[in-house]
Amino acid sequence: MTATTKIEWTEHTWNPFVGCSIHTAGCTNCYAMKQAHRIESFGTVSHYDGVTHKVNGRNVWTGRVNRASDRAMRKPLSIGGQALIFVNSMSDFFHESAADDWRREALSVMRQCPQHTFQILTKRPENIGPFLSRSGETFPANVWLGVTVEHAATVHRIAQLREVPAEVRFISFEPLVGRVGDLDLDGIHWAITGGESGPRARRCDPEWVREILAWCDLYDVPAFHKQWGTWASNPLVCENGMTPQRAAELDPEGKGGSLVDGKHVKRWPHARAAFSPVTDSQRATMASHFPGSISML
Ligand code: SF4
Repeated sequence: MTATTKIEWTEHTWNPFVGCSIHTAGCTNCYAMKQAHRIESFGTVSHYDGVTHKVNGRNVWTGRVNRASDRAMRKPLSIGGQALIFVNSMSDFFHESAADDWRREALSVMRQCPQHTFQILTKRPENIGPFLSRSGETFPANVWLGVTVEHAATVHRIAQLREVPAEVRFISFEPLVGRVGDLDLDGIHWAITGGESGPRARRCDPEWVREILAWCDLYDVPAFHKQWGTWASNPLVCENGMTPQRAAELDPEGKGGSLVDGKHVKRWPHARAAFSPVTDSQRATMASHFPGSISML
């Protein structure tokens, strides 16, 4: 299966609706906002109309969310093989302005495609429970449900995610814009880490990533380090003093490279039947490895 997106942890993107609004710190340099403006300015995809406007010279979301065309809504039905599909790369599946009917339509398409795996990633997990109660919906077994945790102030999303019945629950620690601190990854099946990319990228401290990977090890959660985002965040440059050019020769994959202390960390969710719970004393030992560890739990 040939991937149609450059996002390394998926193969295709699918947008049953488009449009969003800035929500938390991880949204500041939203890539989708720029992309949506570009598509809207072409004027050829009508469901992008009105999703962005210009404020102080910058193209930003209006907060309007539009349902996609019927053809776009059914896109997964035409994807061959067994594909990994990221849902709503140009919106948030649980955005307040998205209609429940659109979410239900999208879930119906996912049920009609049991051969595919759908990755729903949200920064608004507080809206999941109310949607499920209102609609009587559940997530089909081919849905991986995830939340973004970009810094310590959004760690509470992990507990909200844990409450939702889903076959696979995952965390995207990307773009990592601050240290997240102590983690409880009980009930979590996968973690993605990554620094911010783009011209306004905020630096990611490699220690923030190492700390998350250590918590993943403790909880036996497979981790996928996507990229450092910018060479200024790559430890070969910011810790070892290499030039970005030399680092790029040694670490050519991803934006800003993706090696973590000489290794590619690219693991996928696995069955967790044999998993034993993490004890309080294991957590305390783990926390003591990171000076200034803060308990968020
Ligand atoms: S939730 Fe996602 S799509 Fe929406 S503004 Fe934030 S980063 Fe952009």
